[in-house]
Amino acid sequence: MDHRELLGKEELSEEESACVFNGMCDELWPELLPQQIHIGQLPARTSSNVVTTTDTPVPECSSCGLCCTAFVRIPAEPESKVEDDETIRVIKSIGEFEIVVDRFIKRDPNDFRCTKLEGEPGVAVSCSIYERRPNSCRVFEAGSDRCHAIRRAYGLEPFLTTSEMSAALERLDERDQMKGTGETLVDSVRFAEASDGQRVSIEVVLTDESEMLIHEFDPARETWYKSQFEGITVFEAKRLLGKHSEEKMGPC
Ligand code: SF4
Ligand code: SF4
Repeated sequence: MDHRELLGKEELSEEESACVFNGMCDELWPELLPQQIHIGQLPARTSSNVVTTTDTPVPECSSCGLCCTAFVRIPAEPESKVEDDETIRVIKSIGEFEIVVDRFIKRDPNDFRCTKLEGEPGVAVSCSIYERRPNSCRVFEAGSDRCHAIRRAYGLEPFLTTSEMSAALERLDERDQMKGTGETLVDSVRFAEASDGQRVSIEVVLTDESEMLIHEFDPARETWYKSQFEGITVFEAKRLLGKHSEEKMGPC
């Protein structure tokens, strides 16, 4: 089955979901203008900008919507108000459990844009679930380096000049050199059967290629999705896991 056919399904295996998301990227991204700096390297928060200068005007999302069009994997975290039937769920059998290990907002099978985006991208758009949009949408800021980069890829903003590019690359280098070991990021995540056979383990591979077991949980009591841990530091992952425990240990 190819990625377009799989897009019609609400539940996918991990292999099928990889086929769907890779297939959409393979069709969408070659149509865009070349990325001068790889978008994945650029921050999605304005406070972390290394390319965009502070005097650059912040674009209006209501006449854009290009991040909702081009970034095909929009995770809906367990606490989000997005309903299951608005998502594609990734299912995995682990020991005696069959659990949802991730879920993402559905994509339009024709142009792959987020199904919650209304209007014409680049002209006039709105999000039909704005008040309850997932966290990944909330943390993506207009005016961030990543925002400007995707707009450049669609030709809505001019390319960086040679001098802007070299200044940006220098600042990216400085940023990377300033990162300490505490900044090692989670590269990939695996949910597997825990050693006691009664729970599910969350194992991560870090960008320095080390591996780590970060949590074991009972799926009847806790819900975690793989995408919650991707691209964050081990410190942030532990804080996320700890926050959940504190909430669960409240007086009620
Ligand atoms: S965040 Fe940036 S890319 Fe996304 S809709 Fe707003 S202006 Fe466009
Ligand atoms: S949920 Fe809304 S904000 Fe998020 S990608 Fe879809 S249209 Fe954009």
